[in-house]
Amino acid sequence: MSAELTFVAPRRAKPSRHLADLSMDERRSAVVELGEKPFRADQLSRHYFERLTADPALMTDLPAASRERLAGGLLPGLLTSVREITCDDGTTRKTLWRLFDGAMVESVLMRYPDRVTMCVSSQAGCGMNCPFCATGQAGLTRNMSTAEIVEQVVAGARALAAGEIPGGPGRVSNIVFMGMGEPLANYKAVIGAVRRIVDPAPAGLGISARGVTVSTVGLVPAIDKLAVEGLPVTLAVSLHAPDDELRDTLVPVNTRWKVGEVLDAAWRYAATTKRRVSIEYALIKDINDQEWRADLLGRLLKGKLAHVNLIPLNPTPGSKWTASRPEDERAFVRRLASHGVAVTVRDTRGREIDGACGQLAAATPDA
Ligand code: SAH
Repeated sequence: MSAELTFVAPRRAKPSRHLADLSMDERRSAVVELGEKPFRADQLSRHYFERLTADPALMTDLPAASRERLAGGLLPGLLTSVREITCDDGTTRKTLWRLFDGAMVESVLMRYPDRVTMCVSSQAGCGMNCPFCATGQAGLTRNMSTAEIVEQVVAGARALAAGEIPGGPGRVSNIVFMGMGEPLANYKAVIGAVRRIVDPAPAGLGISARGVTVSTVGLVPAIDKLAVEGLPVTLAVSLHAPDDELRDTLVPVNTRWKVGEVLDAAWRYAATTKRRVSIEYALIKDINDQEWRADLLGRLLKGKLAHVNLIPLNPTPGSKWTASRPEDERAFVRRLASHGVAVTVRDTRGREIDGACGQLAAATPDA
């Protein structure tokens, strides 16, 4: 019998080091390690975060030999676009990305008359297992790095600046961590990404923290940590039910932190940051859309610094659930509003390209 030898290619455990993973000080040290002067870190950072380029050929303020060394060492390509799908005449665009190890994630760019919102992923897959969400069904593949998260934004900003999105050259104004993954379960990388997003150039993209929303299923200790980061981002809590009995089934992590605990953490967040908390509630026909649940929710939120975002349930493969009847949705809104609670119904942008809330599943092109 012949011995079978299988050659296993060494797998890198982590994505290559990237400028966006590093603080300004760390970038200066990294540049020195590459044999360059520290101020080159500022120049390289401006190319990436201001001019939105990683192409050494365009870095004409750098000596030719340094360009390759610096870009090669600190600006590796981390995301490969596998597929782009658009709708709304090109103003909504979903991109499927392959990461260095084959993991897949998606991001969505949505251009409105007055703003551009990017919905970004923070994990490949998700471990929270919410039964109505497509991402939850496949489980968690892995956490994304800070630079992998930031690259989604830079790619969108680049496309906008280049005039690729109808409406003329533009800028990203809002970032929502509402793509694949549970951002607070990848806390460190997400905080790093938020810093790169809000820090002014050359450190980062200089997008207002007020335009950044971090959405969570309700990981209480992480909400408390986020409150004291000094980053006035909007917190969104995916509540979906006002009672533990139902929420235990819709958002399984509720068995660990109950509705009352999650909302208390949200009010602490609001008190510390003075930011209004967004309560996300997907309306699911005959599951969580009863008027008595609107009443219960209204009583929980009355007088709080909160705003309810109702999301008509988006269809996901294999799910038996669907969006509420229009009359039930209207009644739910009325009941909530009668408690003095601010409420809006979110649009379903991107639904026809499976790019709306809960539809991101990173299916491969032939899947
Ligand atoms: N894990 C984080 C970030 C994802 S945000 C979180 O849960 O908050 C995605 C938002 O879309 C969440 O509020 C999620 O509950 C909601 N969602 C998931 N599936 C949905 C669906 N099928 N229809 C509408 N909203 C959905």
